[in-house]
Amino acid sequence: MTRRPIIIATDLEGVLVPEIWIAVAETTGIAKLRLTTRDIPDYDELMQGRLQILREHGLSLTAIQQVIATIRPLQGASEYLAWVRAHAQCIILSDTFYEFAAPLMKQLDYPTLFCHTLEVDHNQMLTGYQLRQADSKRQAVQALQALGFRIIAVGDSYNDTAMLQAADVGILFRAPSNVVAEFPQFPVLHEYDELQAELEAELSI
Ligand SMILES: [Mg+2]
Repeated sequence: MTRRPIIIATDLEGVLVPEIWIAVAETTGIAKLRLTTRDIPDYDELMQGRLQILREHGLSLTAIQQVIATIRPLQGASEYLAWVRAHAQCIILSDTFYEFAAPLMKQLDYPTLFCHTLEVDHNQMLTGYQLRQADSKRQAVQALQALGFRIIAVGDSYNDTAMLQAADVGILFRAPSNVVAEFPQFPVLHEYDELQAELEAELSI
């Protein structure tokens, strides 16, 4: 029997690294940056608010990147990701921005990342953002399936559920209880060795 080659599509924040905005809030002491999509459901409203706060505090992209460079991947994440990349193709599907993720990608040995883009002015102040496309995680999964791949998707939050649904296999990893309760169709895993065992079964290794 011929099997389609597998791509592991994985979320970034909450699965491999801490939540970037919360880490920036903690490091800078700007509590208002802790707001997430759970507090402000409208993503554009949330992002415009964040950009406004950064401007008010005079925080340039360079300054924020220096903060993000102090964030470390979650314990065990680097080893897990290296294992995944040795056994299957892996793409990180994230709603973060390339400019923010860069310091973290270095620590993860530069995996493939599909995410969004920030706009900056000549002073390196953030002026806006550009989504690569709407509903980008689900679109990526469907496009990769159209290229002949079987997709195993791993994510932790609401912005992952469309990709988990579109994937051939969807797995919740360290998801908060409200997400687990609302999406009982997905298995819920908490540790990298559990995730690795699940993937070993899917990959028949
Ligand atoms: Mg996440």
